[in-house]
Amino acid sequence: MFRCDKCGRITDPREKLTKKTVLTRERVYQQVIGKGYYEKVNTTVGNEIVKEINLCEKCALEEANEK
Ligand SMILES: [Zn+2]
Repeated sequence: MFRCDKCGRITDPREKLTKKTVLTRERVYQQVIGKGYYEKVNTTVGNEIVKEINLCEKCALEEANEK
């Protein structure tokens, strides 16, 4: 059981929770490979989840239909 962050309803015990990412931030991951002269920086850009909300089945369905 959980509270839906969209409609505020307390869900049924068996209702499925859907997490929706509402905000992401670009994140740069840097990894140093090797040492000294042979040093190389490997840069990877990824998305980090900043905020997630819980959706009930009804709201999850609505969200899916909006797309
Ligand atoms: Zn809801």
